Amino acid sequence: MIKLANRVQTLTPSTTLAITAKANELKAQGVDIIGLGAGEPDYNTPENILQAAYKSMMEGKTKYTPAGGLPALKEAIIEKLKRDQQLTYAPTEVMVGVGAKHVLYTLFQVLLDKGDEVIIPIPYWVSYPEQVKLAEGVPVYIEATASQNYKISPQQLSEAITDRTKAVMINTPSNPTGMIYSKEELQELAEVCREKDILIISDEIYEKLIYDGAEHVSIATLSEDAKNRTIIVNGVSKSHSMTGWRIGYAAGDSKLIKAMTNLASHSTSNPTTTSQYAAIEAYNGPQEAVEEMRQAFESRLEEIFPKLEAIPGFNVIRPQGAFYLLPDVSEAAEKTGFASVDEFVEALLTEANVAVIPGSGFGAPSTIRLSYATSLEALNEAVERIGKFVSERW
Ligand code: PLP
Repeated sequence: MIKLANRVQTLTPSTTLAITAKANELKAQGVDIIGLGAGEPDYNTPENILQAAYKSMMEGKTKYTPAGGLPALKEAIIEKLKRDQQLTYAPTEVMVGVGAKHVLYTLFQVLLDKGDEVIIPIPYWVSYPEQVKLAEGVPVYIEATASQNYKISPQQLSEAITDRTKAVMINTPSNPTGMIYSKEELQELAEVCREKDILIISDEIYEKLIYDGAEHVSIATLSEDAKNRTIIVNGVSKSHSMTGWRIGYAAGDSKLIKAMTNLASHSTSNPTTTSQYAAIEAYNGPQEAVEEMRQAFESRLEEIFPKLEAIPGFNVIRPQGAFYLLPDVSEAAEKTGFASVDEFVEALLTEANVAVIPGSGFGAPSTIRLSYATSLEALNEAVERIGKFVSERW
């Protein structure tokens, strides 16, 4: 009999999987399900990027590349960081990986020894705790409540730091909350990190998806000290609608980047060559498509937010970024006769035929996550179905 390694014994599968599997099963039976679970833009990758990928293949650029990415892609990323963040990095401070997810995985593998702690604000992106545990680290959670706009305070951060703390995760704009940390808020958090001498892992994958005139600030831009203790993680998945191409990067301390690159040389060899050529075009080519997609998300948010907010028992904060809404639905679930939000989510699927993600997977079990990376028509219909479902059962 096969006995699996201890390290995967407690590995929890993605919470989105169970609901997605059930939604697909119902769809296969012919049920008209509207899925609001998507974690990716609903647009094709811009044409200039597709053309660049095709051209590279036709030119025979289909072989291995350096493990940490093509020099030309590193240069394109360095230029991007200069252009958008006014940050200067050397090629030895940049590593390209197989999506931001794998970059984070690699980072935790080279950073953590058994028992090292990483501070993770709740609600969190599902993979952070699992990746920390896979590196034998310990996730230490700080609860950022709705009353604090789902953002941690410097005091909470300070109190959570122990002599085993290696790093804190900052995800702005956030999945699943859509919240953005202001420059002042980041300054205060950076100050705590300086005082206590811990690293900052700044996941900026939703950088380009910001609304209502909000500004994305990278914590690395705040001071020389903040830059030196920050590893920026970003990529083309959400900004350029390139989730399937699997290109992400890390920028930061050269010692970490070197170790990550060495690890990648034994695990992936390199991120897919064609995808790297596509990503060079994504960063060096025209950026109009990025803005067009942002505007489309913003107008969907504009239309759908008031309708969602009007559903009885739904308490929702208007997000400033990403493409998710995270209403607290504990009141709606209770008033409609469910013992938990997870059960409410299940009934939304089977009775209202709308698939949403239960917040329990993000450490926020009183919430549900809805993605507005889908057509306005589908969004309007979905919100109407949810509203009707809640009103009829109330
Ligand atoms: N970080 C956050 C917060 C995300 O939501 C995602 C994707 O859903 C990622 C990182 C990973 O992105 P990718 O691996 O596609 O670059």
